[in-house]
Amino acid sequence: MAPAPAFAQAPKKEPVDCTQVKCIALTFDDGPGKYAGTLLDTLKKYDAKATFFLEGQYAKSRPTYVKRMVTEGHELGNHSYSHPDFTKSDAGKIKSEIQKTQDAVKKAAGVEPKLLRPPYGLADLQVSDIAAEFDMPIILWTAGSQDWSSKNVEAIQKQTLAVAEPNGIILMHDWVKQTVDGMPALIKTLKNKGYHLVTVSDVIKSEKLEPGDVFPLPEGWAQ
Ligand SMILES: [Zn+2]
Repeated sequence: MAPAPAFAQAPKKEPVDCTQVKCIALTFDDGPGKYAGTLLDTLKKYDAKATFFLEGQYAKSRPTYVKRMVTEGHELGNHSYSHPDFTKSDAGKIKSEIQKTQDAVKKAAGVEPKLLRPPYGLADLQVSDIAAEFDMPIILWTAGSQDWSSKNVEAIQKQTLAVAEPNGIILMHDWVKQTVDGMPALIKTLKNKGYHLVTVSDVIKSEKLEPGDVFPLPEGWAQ
């Protein structure tokens, strides 16, 4: 057997197949928030991936975090520029909110988001048509951590673990300090339960979504 080269490269990681293993996608809205740097440090330490649905106004004011998110293997989504309710906005306003955010993210990190999450998770047929024009599916969530309302580390963990399920998409916020503070323990517990922490694109791969599709479909959505 030949001796291993002194500077052997680490074996390339196989991509996670979420049809074969337990996956979960943690998603962080409205950022980059104030605590994004700490959150990124934690995700890096535990080799966990996440998806950030960014507001263009904060991508513009905190471009360094956006760049780190991309460099460190996380996924980015578009969450509007200034968080208006798209179902109460005209087409021109919606398009400009999406485009300004694409531009701000591209300027910060050199890439454009490929997923749209409208503010408050509110979408209608007009929003879906516009998402299709931007070549993006609309990604909502399977469950929320309720972090923005509880603002309590234990409550956030309890709620997240209660709603965690294979291929779940969990709504969280990186501007909630308690979410970021509790993240090391939450990640450890999820991993102990066998979850791989992956991006939204990893968990939706088998859904074969088309641009403009909404996932998961909200109750009462007209097909
Ligand atoms: Zn939001």
